[in-house]
This record gives sequence, structure tokens and C-alpha cells, in this order.
Amino acid sequence: MTPHSSTQQLTEYISAVSAPADETSAVDAAVRCALATFSAEVCAAVVEQAVRGYLGPDNSPPPLGLVGVQTGATSLAVDGLGTLHAAVAHTDKDPHGALIVAREQRPFSADEHDLLSAMARALGLALRGLRTLATGRTMLAAHERDSDERLRLLSALGTRQRLLETVLNIQRSISNRKPLQEILDTVTASAASLLDRAAVTLVLPDSGSGGLRPASYGGPSERIGDSLVLAAAADSIEASCVVARTDDGGGDADRYRSIVAAPVVIRGVAAGSLAAETGNSHGYAVEQRELLTAFAQQVSLALTEAKTADAMHEAQHDTVTGLPNRALFLERLSHAIEAGNKRVADVTILLIDLHRFKAINDSLGHKAGDAVLAAVAKRISANLRSGDVVARVGGDEFGVLLEGAGGVVGARAARSIIDAIREPLRISGRSVCLSACIGVAASCTSSADSGDLFNSADLAMNRAVMAGPGRIEIYEPHMHAEIRERINLLDDLQTALARTELRLQYQPLVDLETGRPVGVEALARWRHPQRGEVSPATFIPLAEETGLILDLGLWILREGCRQVAEWRDVLPDIRLNINVSARQVLDPDFATGVAQALADVGLPSPTLTLELTETMLMGDPEQAVVRLGQLKSLGVHLSIDDFGTGYSSLSYLQQFPVDQIKIDQTFVSGATTSENQLAVARTVMDLGRTLRLETVAEGIEDDQQLQLLRDLGCDLGQGFLLARPMEAAAVPDYFRHPVTRR
Ligand code: C2E
Ligand code: MG
Ligand code: MG
Repeated sequence: MTPHSSTQQLTEYISAVSAPADETSAVDAAVRCALATFSAEVCAAVVEQAVRGYLGPDNSPPPLGLVGVQTGATSLAVDGLGTLHAAVAHTDKDPHGALIVAREQRPFSADEHDLLSAMARALGLALRGLRTLATGRTMLAAHERDSDERLRLLSALGTRQRLLETVLNIQRSISNRKPLQEILDTVTASAASLLDRAAVTLVLPDSGSGGLRPASYGGPSERIGDSLVLAAAADSIEASCVVARTDDGGGDADRYRSIVAAPVVIRGVAAGSLAAETGNSHGYAVEQRELLTAFAQQVSLALTEAKTADAMHEAQHDTVTGLPNRALFLERLSHAIEAGNKRVADVTILLIDLHRFKAINDSLGHKAGDAVLAAVAKRISANLRSGDVVARVGGDEFGVLLEGAGGVVGARAARSIIDAIREPLRISGRSVCLSACIGVAASCTSSADSGDLFNSADLAMNRAVMAGPGRIEIYEPHMHAEIRERINLLDDLQTALARTELRLQYQPLVDLETGRPVGVEALARWRHPQRGEVSPATFIPLAEETGLILDLGLWILREGCRQVAEWRDVLPDIRLNINVSARQVLDPDFATGVAQALADVGLPSPTLTLELTETMLMGDPEQAVVRLGQLKSLGVHLSIDDFGTGYSSLSYLQQFPVDQIKIDQTFVSGATTSENQLAVARTVMDLGRTLRLETVAEGIEDDQQLQLLRDLGCDLGQGFLLARPMEAAAVPDYFRHPVTRR
């Protein structure tokens, strides 16, 4: 139960209890309302030693022992239900009056106890008001009293009624989330007015000094929180009950003062006090003390509500951007879907992933990272309609909720958000360029369930991320089937290693001048028990995405090294090329793993060449330079695979300590048919020569290509024409009797 709902419930309760014109109906209303509020099985109202209202299972009679049950009681035995959790609150003026609730499900929280005691007090007030009225009526009817007494009764009745109305007003302000100070000022002003224009001060703990401070004042003169008021307040907090303090003014009747203070209790602890100065020498009557206590209770409720409202806001918002967080986004999404179902309108969500945000955070620091997030949040919001919801749903992920909009509107919004994010940002005096990927899902094509819709957008976003920065993907149902298929495959891949379904094939690298093989490239193979051979182009990216590549890559490395070390007895000069992925190179343990794999089988490090791709190096070039340096210091060689397909810049190429470049198959096959491709192939060879790198041509399939590459001065060749990837057992034979092509 949140205090927001509790104040609302209390407001409803007070309206219900104060409306009836007779006691029985008021008690019935109280019992009905309390039963519902606490989701209780049993609710009883004891008034003047009798159970006057009861609701239990199947109209059963009230259990014995309700009269006289004490406030601290936490259980209640009920026929047919056994022992239930109970809460009891007394209706103060009536020593035996109580409101009792009991339920099976769970014990009552401190907040619920507070609410119940406010309810019990309101019932007491309502009943006494009605009784005064009834007595007044009787008396008036009998014409037995003098007019003074009639007037007193009528004024007492008026006070009760005004109190109930005032309390109801305050409750409404709390429910409507009026500013806390406004509510507190209403309480002190109302208390002052009901206490015959007394000076009422609310005293609360001062978080700065640890002492007490006057927090609100209501009344005729500005005598705020002098020492006598503060002392009375401190006494009432200390004693946890209403106390009075007087100052006889040194015998001067004009300076005589009397203060009554009632504690303000928050979560069971007296934390503040509501103090009223009577302005006369008689102090306050019991009735008025009770009024003061009722107002102190309103302060308690308002404070609890405010605290929890703050906590709720904090729990539901992101502090960096001020936007709703994931939990609140999902809540809003559920509501939007419910509303959308009623209006048969679409709900569309966008999930936005910032590209390379982590790198910005790492290089510019967290403060700058936060500033980037806040700026992005603003740009996203600026591109939406005022009613659309923007939330930060993850570290570098944002969510957008568009009500009454389909996928097309969603995609249009996504496009404008991507364009807005692309605009350079100035952060800490530097210009930062960002890009984003967005997944879009609409309730009409996905599901009318908030969780499913979110997952669909997430799926689309992941596809967009895979496709590259700036991409937008709109969810379509077939994506789920694909992902299920991928998950199945991944499960199988996880066990493939243990089940020895994986093996390596080896494709020779041939010296184009002599035609003799100089080494092999290890290529991973997976024979799936049901699917047959699965291409590395399928399972390697899957392993990369999930991190499984670390284990898989280590196995490939160790197995390749073991095999080549074995061959070196008969083929002493054989070299080994191994493909490695970005995840492996960026893994801090990778270099150690390489050194260990070589040492374990006694393979000299220059025998091994690690193949990396341009794209993976350019993902984080600074980091790559550092990692490659570490690998280089082991003595192994480094090669850039699929050269020409990525975006490596020449300046980085010079900084990467590589030894070999492998020109991609597309340029090899294209070189004989297209002038452009030939130009690329020639440039790569020239580049290799200039930077003194060994050049390898991949995918040579015919004699014409072979001749051309020889003419271009390419050092090594690899391709089906020279040799297909082969099983390990076939390698020694091939090396002894290669099919040389001259
Ligand atoms: P890659 O490293 O560029 O490997 C060369 C690919 O070209 C191999 O495909 C090879 O079979 C194929 N190939 C060789 N000669 C020819 C030819 O003349 N014509 C044609 N059409 N293709 C030729 P494969 O084995 O399917 O491997 C595909 C990619 O999967 C590899 O490209 C590499 O990026 C990745 N891969 C394979 N094994 C591993 C591995 O052990 N670790 C990692 N990280 N990636 C691997
Ligand atoms: Mg390769
Ligand atoms: Mg390649």
C-alpha cells in the first residue's frame, strides 16, 4: 500500500463515515470501508463495550473477545479461518472503542497501522458529532434546557462538523499532491481557526542542526516558535503524548501563557509536534486537546506522504537525465496498452541504443559521459510530441513510448531522433560525435502485452545494432522465429566443444613465386549431429556476440598449435595462421593464453600468425594499438584479414604493428574483370611493399587470377585453385607433394 493510495483511501473513508445521519450507518460505513482498504477478511468496530459493526466471512457472528482487545494485538482467532494477522486502533475518547481489522494474507505494516488509527479517530469524531446532534435534538424537542445550553451544544456540533470538513479538505490536498508547505500551512491555519483563533505552531526536526525548528504557523499574531513553544514541543515529542506547559509571567496575569503540544508521529516515532497557545489561563479542555491531536495526525500523514512521494520519484526516475527509469517506462507502457486496447489504438515503442557510448565514458570520464546522456535525453525529447514518454531504460539505452501511433509514425520519429543525435555535441570543451541505432515495435504487429512489446523492440534494436550505427529496424514477427533458431543453435554450440563436434581444417598458404606451400590457415568446422556442417560464417558471429568465442577461440588456438607442433617433426618450416575475433583481442587474458598455448607444445612464436580484421581494429583503434603491442612483444606475427573490406585509415595502419595483409577475395576475383577492383588490388600490393608487409591473396580460384597476382608481386596465395581447406590428416601428404601451379 503506498501512502498516496492510503491518503486517498482515508479521504474516501472520512467522506463515507461523516455522511450518514445516524450512528449505525456511520459504523457500518466505517467497517465496510476499512475491510476493503486493508483487503481484510474481518473488520469490527467496538463502541462503548459493544461490537456495533462487524463484517466477516459468510455473515458469521463476530468472534468472542473483540471487546477489550488491546491496541498492540497482532492476531485474532476467527472461527473457520483460524488465527489471522490483526491490527487494532482505539477511538481515543471511548476507552473501549476500537476499530479492528484482521486478514490471513500478511501482517499489517507500520503505514497500515497509522492509517487504521487515523480511521479509528475519524470514526470516534463522527460518532461523537452524531451523538451530540442526537442529544441536542432530544433536548430541543423536550424544551427542557435553557437557551445557553442549547447554544453550547449547537456550537460543539458545529465544531465537530467543521473539523470533519477541514480534515477532509486536508486529506484532499494530500491526495492531490499539493506542495507540502501548503498542506502544513493549511493544517496550522485550520487548527488555529478551530481552536478559537489560537496561535498554532508546527515544530519539526531541523535536519541541519539536529534540533527543532518552527515549520509552519497559523493564528492571529506572529509569535513563531519562541522558547516556550519549542520547550512544550520537545516535551511532547519526548513523552510521545499531549503535554501542557505554562509560564505564569512572574505573577503578571497579562503575561501568563499556556501551551499545549501534541506529538506528530511518523512511522511509530514521535518526530515533531503541533503546539497551540491558548491565550487564557485555563489551558485547554479535553475536547480541544483532542482537536489538536487530530491535526497532529494530519501532519503525520502529510509528512509520510511527502517522504514517500519523494522516495517514489527517486525510485522511478534516473538522476542523470531526470527521465523516468525502466520500471516507470514499463508501467506507463502497460497503462498505454490498456488504454489503447479500449480505444483500439496502437501503441508504439522505440528503443534507442547509443553507439560507442562506453568508449566516450572511458575516454572523457564519467562526468562528461553523464553530460552526454543528459544532452541526448534533451535531443530525443525535442523530437517528440509533448505527450510522448521518454525514459532511460539502460546505461546507454533510451525508450520512447508513442500512444496512438503505428510503426510508420514510429519509424519517422526514429529517423528524426537519429539525425538529432548525430549532430556534434560540445562536452567539456570537446566536440563529441554520436550515433544511435533504434528498434521500433508497434502493438499491432507485436503483442498487446507490455513485456512482449518491449522485448520485440529490444529484438529489433539488437538487429539494428548488428547492422551498424544509424540503423533503424522495425520489428516483424519472423524476427522471433529467427532469434529462437539462434538460441537453439547457441545452446548446441555450447555443448559442441565438450562433445568434440568441433574440429579444424587447414588451408595451405602458397608461395606464389615458388608454388610451394609455406603454411596453413586453421579454419574452424562444426559438424552438428542433426544439421550437419554449420558454416563458421554462422557460428563464429554467434559465439562472438555471446562471449563464447573466448572459450572457443582458446580451444582453436591450442588445437592449432598442438597440431602444427606435431607436424614440425616432418615439416620443420610450416607456419600457422589462426583467425581471432575482436572479443579475444580485447580480452586482457588473451596474450597470456597465446603465450601458454605456444609454450605448452614448444612452438616458436614466429611460427604463429594471428589474423585480425580491419573492422575489429577500427572499433577502438587506441585500445587495439595497445593490445597488438602486447601480442607483438610475444614474438608472434600479426596479419590483417579481409583487407580492403573495412575502413582502416592509413594513419592507423602505420600504427598497428602488423606483418601481413591478406587482400580480400572480392578484389582477387574482381581484379581480372573490373578495372576498379584491379586498381584496388594493385594499390594494396603497393601499400604492402611500401610498409614492408607480406601480402597474401585470398580466394584464388582460377589461373588467370593466379597469374595476375603473381604479376602484381603478391607474396603468398590461398584459394580453391591452390588447395581447398583439408582435414588435418591430409596436410603432411599435401606438403610433401603439393600440386604446384606455375
Ligand atoms: P577467412 O579467415 O577470410 O577465411 C577464408 C575463407 O575463405 C574460408 O571460409 C575459406 O574456406 C574460404 N576460401 C578459401 N579459398 C577460397 C576460394 O578459393 N574461394 C572461395 N569462395 N572461398 C575460399 P570459411 O572456412 O567458411 O571461413 C569463413 C570465415 O569464418 C573466415 O574467413 C573467418 O573469418 C571465420 N573463421 C573461420 N574459422 C575461424 C576461427 O577459427 N576463428 C575465427 N575467429 N574465425 C574463423
Ligand atoms: Mg582468415
Ligand atoms: Mg579472409
